[in-house]
Amino acid sequence: MTRARRVAVVLLNVLLFWAALPVAIYAAGVWVTAALGFGAPCTGLRIAGAVLAVAGLALALAAIGFLRWIGKGLPISALPPTVFVATGPYQLCRHPIYTGYALAAAGVGLAVGCTGLSLVVVPAVTVLWFATWVALYEEPGLLRRFGNSYRVYRDRTPVFLPFSLRRIARRVVLALFRLVFKVSVEGLENVPARGPTLFVCDHLSYLDFIFGQYASPRGLAVPVTAEVFRHPLRAAFMRLMGAIPTRRYCPDPAAYLAMADEMASGGAVGIAVEGERSWTGRMSLPSDGVMRNLAQLSETVIPVAMDGAYRVWPRWGSGADRSQPITVRIGKPLALSGATPRECAHLLRDSIVALRGPDPLSADFAKVVRARPELTLWKCPRCGAEETISYSADSGMKCAACNTHWDCKARDVTLAGLVEQTRWALPDPLPSGPLLAAACEWREDADARLTLNVLQSLGCGQASLAADHLVWTGEGAQRRIALADVRSVTTERNDTLQLGTGRGVVQLVLCSASPWRWQHYVAALIGKSVPGGLMKGEKE
Ligand SMILES: [Zn+2]
Repeated sequence: MTRARRVAVVLLNVLLFWAALPVAIYAAGVWVTAALGFGAPCTGLRIAGAVLAVAGLALALAAIGFLRWIGKGLPISALPPTVFVATGPYQLCRHPIYTGYALAAAGVGLAVGCTGLSLVVVPAVTVLWFATWVALYEEPGLLRRFGNSYRVYRDRTPVFLPFSLRRIARRVVLALFRLVFKVSVEGLENVPARGPTLFVCDHLSYLDFIFGQYASPRGLAVPVTAEVFRHPLRAAFMRLMGAIPTRRYCPDPAAYLAMADEMASGGAVGIAVEGERSWTGRMSLPSDGVMRNLAQLSETVIPVAMDGAYRVWPRWGSGADRSQPITVRIGKPLALSGATPRECAHLLRDSIVALRGPDPLSADFAKVVRARPELTLWKCPRCGAEETISYSADSGMKCAACNTHWDCKARDVTLAGLVEQTRWALPDPLPSGPLLAAACEWREDADARLTLNVLQSLGCGQASLAADHLVWTGEGAQRRIALADVRSVTTERNDTLQLGTGRGVVQLVLCSASPWRWQHYVAALIGKSVPGGLMKGEKE
């Protein structure tokens, strides 16, 4: 653009926004004041209006200065900044020029006694301006121009006034949550007030993404499995709570980048390092892959234990026991630099376990709605028989094969304790026939990598697992998966086995069999370990 043309564009904009527009809205203000019969404000309000006008003008001019000198541009579409500005007035809100302009106009209205301008015209024009120009044109343009930096800035910075409705809503949710659950927090003095902060925690209940929020007063971004975001209302709630949708069955660079951006812009990220909720309450080692990602995000991490979360909602339960207290206990920062991923994993786990209370693993089975601890204890610790354990709230757990009885009301009877007495290994040699068979529903998404498809259900049928494949036969449909293609085997809720092939995902919703047992078998066949599992040599 030639110099003459640039000068003309600037002059035109100055005339439009600092002469024509003020005259127009002032005229509208005078008309509204007369039409609605507004009286003149008292002297105090007039003085306050004058102060507001000067402050608003100062804010707008300061923001223009920042755009000019740091952003190397002007607040004009034809001459936009080339450098992204997030400092100075831009720390307070995303559009300080408009905010300052609106405050100045409202202040002038009060100062000169044109009440309709302050009370009606300025609010109406501002809302209209933000709902159209800002929301539909300006912010999408900034997002295109500055990408992830702008997305992180937008999520962190309020749009108009220097306080965030989102942050307030989050506080309200956390306060309400405290009315329902007995949450307390210890060790907040270990959390830095600013700067990138990485929290790592154990994963014991569905609600850990909320409990974890109490560890970070300034907000916390947490990776949460992407399936949760399929439902729009739930997705909105999850975003409010800082959740980052993360795909589990294939590498998800977008989720990793979102966390890295959050850290780079001085935010806080919280990660449940085991990747899956614990079945027994015992904490297993995070994988080397997780540890490598953590090391790239930050050299310093803060361990957090969700003490009591397992008692509130263990994964084999199907409801919460709200009478149980949860303590979010925050430890001192750990320096991981220089250690191997394996050493870091041990250091992390030991630090988190040390933060737990003396009795982290017992759960009051009877208080967890429709509790099914027999899904975890699929092998009798006494006689080794499989799927012989039954549970009822009155009589506790019992093995049908050896008649051993465990009184689950006793505090020293814990699933982790029983599981630790259990040893399990694949039959050797492997039989040529099926290893496991169970009735289940089959759900699949052939391309979990590209979209958040809702899994398609093929109905109920019979699944059977052999040494190198899994077959499922339903009414009029059949599926076969070679175990060589299976990259990940996880469980969902207390009834679902999930197989990720790196491309698609398959869910087996088991009618009554233990998904943890299926996970053990598939994991052993493909050479992976099961978090908190029954395998020999699993204790490290
Ligand atoms: Zn037994």
